[in-house]
Amino acid sequence: MYVVLLGPPGSGKGTQAERLAAAFGLAHISTGDLFRENIRLGTELGKRVQEYLSRGELVPDDVTIAMVAEQLRLPVAREGAVFDGFPRTVEQAQALDRELARLGKSVDKAVELVVPDDEVVRRLSGRRICRVCQAAYHVEFNPPSCPGRCDKCGGELYQREDDRPEVLRRRLEVYHRQTTPVIEYYRQAGVLRRVDGTGPIEEVGKRLADLVRQDPP
Ligand code: AMP
Repeated sequence: MYVVLLGPPGSGKGTQAERLAAAFGLAHISTGDLFRENIRLGTELGKRVQEYLSRGELVPDDVTIAMVAEQLRLPVAREGAVFDGFPRTVEQAQALDRELARLGKSVDKAVELVVPDDEVVRRLSGRRICRVCQAAYHVEFNPPSCPGRCDKCGGELYQREDDRPEVLRRRLEVYHRQTTPVIEYYRQAGVLRRVDGTGPIEEVGKRLADLVRQDPP
């Protein structure tokens, strides 16, 4: 099963994708996490994409698509995957269809997590990420038990550079302009579903899992 999670930055895609992948035994493919990991490790790819991330702009399609294609060839993705933060352009959505078709698969469901912009800004300005394992927290809504430390691995928590207000506004603008056509793309393909992304993490997770379990999409 291949599931695409769509939604603005701060809609909870990362948190929900991780839960969904664990519950259904799917790979979790987050392009944002992969880029950040490459930047942290100082790889060639990391050097190439760093500027885009710090400005809140999209990384060019060819670079992003090549990275996802590589992930899809890994054994963990054979049974399926949850895509988080990908595709963000219609070109990426078409490339994903091509890559999956090559494996005899297709996107089974595309779920849009619906969260209003003002809620997104509240969530992201309080978001903190673990430097070591990338787990996400919120200073108010999902705080770690020990401030500044990750519950899972004890790593240091930090605020992403692109969660700062100026970059955040840019990311939302980019989302509305470039990713809205992707939602339309999946609507036309007949696989789009919408889920209310507001409320407690567990509740949103349950809405999502119920929907993913449903057959047909
Ligand atoms: P995210 O963690 O999904 O919010 O992504 C953080 C940043 O990584 C974005 O603002 C982009 O600069 C880059 N990025 C992540 N996914 C993509 C994608 N599918 N296409 C282009 N750029 C991306």
